Amino acid sequence: MIWEIEFKGKPYLFVHGAICTKEQFENFECSYAHLMDDGKVLRFGVQIGTKDDVKFVRRLSSTEKNKTSDRALSAFCEKFLRKEFEFVIGEKKEPCLICGKLTKKIEINYEGRICSKKCCREMDKRFFGALRLGLKFG
Ligand SMILES: [Zn+2]
Repeated sequence: MIWEIEFKGKPYLFVHGAICTKEQFENFECSYAHLMDDGKVLRFGVQIGTKDDVKFVRRLSSTEKNKTSDRALSAFCEKFLRKEFEFVIGEKKEPCLICGKLTKKIEINYEGRICSKKCCREMDKRFFGALRLGLKFG
């Protein structure tokens, strides 16, 4: 679940222990800080407050939560998809994971035989389909 909170008087979102601005969350950027189990608020490993500095304002409704999570997920996918594919050349030919064509090309992000960029895109689609199903924001 996602909460609107105030930390030291400023508005943030609270997502699974992470304190971040709405923009940070939706752009899939680094969180501002983290609330630890022991009640300390850490930013890059440095304590900047305690749980007493965190005021829970309200829980986002499930519609708001889904909208916010969807935006974050899209931003994540987009960032990932903008990556360059990189290949190394294997010793012998083996079937491409997508189309089955024999290839020496090994795509390093997926660590498997993928014969072409087109098949890489297809692999991305399948990967993100699985990710979307598996990913739950509280
Ligand atoms: Zn292929």
